[in-house]
Amino acid sequence: MHEPQQAMQLVVLWAEKMSNNRAHRLSINAVMLGPTYDYIIVGGGVSGLVVANRLSEDPEVTVLILEAGDLDSCSEIVTVPGLIGHGFPPAYNWNFTTTRQEFLDNRTRDYGQGHVVGGGSILNGIVMTRGTVADYNAWEALGNPGWGWKGLLPYFKKNERFEANFPQAHADTLPIRPDLTLHGTNGPLEVTYPNYLYNQSSNFLQGFSELGMPVQPDPNTGALLGAMIVPASMLAKNQSRHDARRAYLDPVLHHRPNLHLAVQQTVTRLLLRTEENSTIVAPHFGRRVAVAYGVEFTTSAEEPRRTVSCNHEVILAAGAIVSPALLQVSGIGPAPILNELNVSVHVNLPGVGFNLQDHAMVGAFYNYTKPGLFTEHSLVGPVLERAKQEYSANRTGPLTSPLITTVAFTSLHALLANDTNHHPFFNTIANLTSPTFSLQSLPPGSGRHTSLVRGYTAQLAVLRKLLARKDLPALEIMADSIGTLTVSVQRPLSRGSVRALNRDLLAGERGVAGNVALDPRYCAHEYDCALLVQALRFNRRVIATKAMQELMPRPGKPWADPATVEDAEKTYEEEGDNEQDNEALLGAVKERIQTEFHVSGTTAMMPLDMGGVVNPRLVVYGTANVRVVDAGIMPLVVGAHLQAGVYAVAEKAADLIKEDRKVWLGPPSPASIPSPSGTVFNKGNGISGPKEGRNCTFGMSSRPSHGHRHDTMHRKPAA
Ligand SMILES: Cc1cc2nc3c(=O)[nH]c(=O)nc-3n(C[C@H](O)[C@H](O)[C@H](O)COP(=O)(O)OP(=O)(O)OC[C@H]3O[C@@H](n4cnc5c(N)ncnc54)[C@H](O)[C@@H]3O)c2cc1C
Repeated sequence: MHEPQQAMQLVVLWAEKMSNNRAHRLSINAVMLGPTYDYIIVGGGVSGLVVANRLSEDPEVTVLILEAGDLDSCSEIVTVPGLIGHGFPPAYNWNFTTTRQEFLDNRTRDYGQGHVVGGGSILNGIVMTRGTVADYNAWEALGNPGWGWKGLLPYFKKNERFEANFPQAHADTLPIRPDLTLHGTNGPLEVTYPNYLYNQSSNFLQGFSELGMPVQPDPNTGALLGAMIVPASMLAKNQSRHDARRAYLDPVLHHRPNLHLAVQQTVTRLLLRTEENSTIVAPHFGRRVAVAYGVEFTTSAEEPRRTVSCNHEVILAAGAIVSPALLQVSGIGPAPILNELNVSVHVNLPGVGFNLQDHAMVGAFYNYTKPGLFTEHSLVGPVLERAKQEYSANRTGPLTSPLITTVAFTSLHALLANDTNHHPFFNTIANLTSPTFSLQSLPPGSGRHTSLVRGYTAQLAVLRKLLARKDLPALEIMADSIGTLTVSVQRPLSRGSVRALNRDLLAGERGVAGNVALDPRYCAHEYDCALLVQALRFNRRVIATKAMQELMPRPGKPWADPATVEDAEKTYEEEGDNEQDNEALLGAVKERIQTEFHVSGTTAMMPLDMGGVVNPRLVVYGTANVRVVDAGIMPLVVGAHLQAGVYAVAEKAADLIKEDRKVWLGPPSPASIPSPSGTVFNKGNGISGPKEGRNCTFGMSSRPSHGHRHDTMHRKPAA
């Protein structure tokens, strides 16, 4: 396993040299991993880096992170909030594609995911919303003691370094008034509000007030209803993205010889043995327990596979798409799928890869035409150059403003109130989540295992209560500066799946992305699409408010209200009746649905007989020492953007892992700690690590090619 002669290109090692506004990697050679670590963390994204940081606080414990992607290079397209949405640097993207979406238009969808140290936090829209008290209490109600809002609030705070220094004018007029008793001020991740907001934010908030809906001064108190300005994971002073790498890794890697990071290393399977008469009893599996003793990994399909072993645990943090696929190819998953893959069954676990949930999203363009209106589209030519100079010099101006700053969360009740012509589906709303639901909501075959049906039935009972409440969101609307109101389903009823197609995840040209069938099954339950139709009808009410009319919206069809056809230049030629209108909207929804990038639920924390994959300590059922800590463990996707929840889950996971170590494994043996000579982050070895707290403090010299933003995130301005 330990092969000193072979340079592994393992790359615990880089140095950042911030000259010429760029980060350089030093060349790396012959840097070896230790043969054995206490904990091996698969994936250095949001959850992986949190857990790595916390576990390696104890110098006696050795931790290895294996990350498939590389370190990002602080490029402006990543770090400058105003450039979010201009596309993903290709090297940082897994480039997943969904399967054909049979309940939509039978087409596939692109599905970007972070393939880089920091994972999704390098690509994401930096929106920071926790969700509601009820979201997490629902997790608890599904059999997970300790995972309610009260159990997670300390971890939301532990993650956060909230900085409340935004312009006073925003505080007064919008309003932004954070409740500081509910925020953390000493955590690793800086959270704040941007320095600049487009004036259109104010129109949107006022429009909601006109409709009699609340405006939230702080979205992160556990109540989330009405319109609001959302905080962002960004540095207050620098006004740039703050991500998991800068928050959790860079400040400690240099100082902790017990923490190793190896980049460009894709884990291809877990190494498991089954103990028939184990002294460790796995609940529900008696004395038959799968024990992980390491993982297999490689730099590329062409390179030899290598292995590294662990004393304590393998911790999966590869995200909700790859973690379940890795379990399957390693022999943990639904037996029929494992048999098809021709892998031996270590644990027959029906839930692995099922229960996938995502926020289906549609961007509708209402086209603000007010003369002289300053929008993101104004940022071209000399205006963009001036904005860049301002950002470089002062950290002010429109480039401090992320793609999404202004959103609204609305209840189902609010959507249907005052709309007697709503989509016919809602005439049956009482039966929306009836126990006699159609099995179509669940993936066919193994996805309808008795335990999964039972779990889904329990979820529906919970969801029914949440959807009936007037104070809880069913829908999110995200508003940008040019006139897009993007709607997304916050409590989807459709369930999808992730399934490995090949026992070798690197086989073929597309590697992992080509060997995983990702099927969100958007609108497998009719509710999800019907809700989006209703949302688009609601958007018209928002657009019709006095405040929004000031922006002179001129939507095309089908977004415009047929009843006000004379106000719009290019809408329906004749007034469509309600049925035709709903059909037109439904057609547009089915054509345009894309992901909000909130994939979750595929290794759900739920009881085993409800299709669960991990127990409330996040240990995979039937195993002694495999844990999952990423977005896959969410039993129900939270009705909000995910990262705050993922950070909090990972913070709590780290505490659970620390507690369990004391209970059943005892301290690591000193011999297992890799020799410091294998660690490049020794100060004396001539290679410098990243400086503590270093962030991307760059100017604006290199220019991303500018055009209007690509439709890679959140918003798709429609025709
Ligand atoms: C484009 C985009 C926009 C988003 N916008 C927002 C937003 O504005 N606000 C918000 O709250 N949330 C947002 N999210 C969601 C949020 O970023 C994710 O929920 C979060 O990153 C999930 O964390 P994770 O640890 O589960 O997985 P990730 O952060 O994705 O980390 C998984 C890591 O594992 C690595 N990995 C995977 N497989 C392997 C393997 N076999 N071997 C080694 N390494 C592997 C990956 O490269 C990656 O680094 C967005 C996500 C994306 C992709």
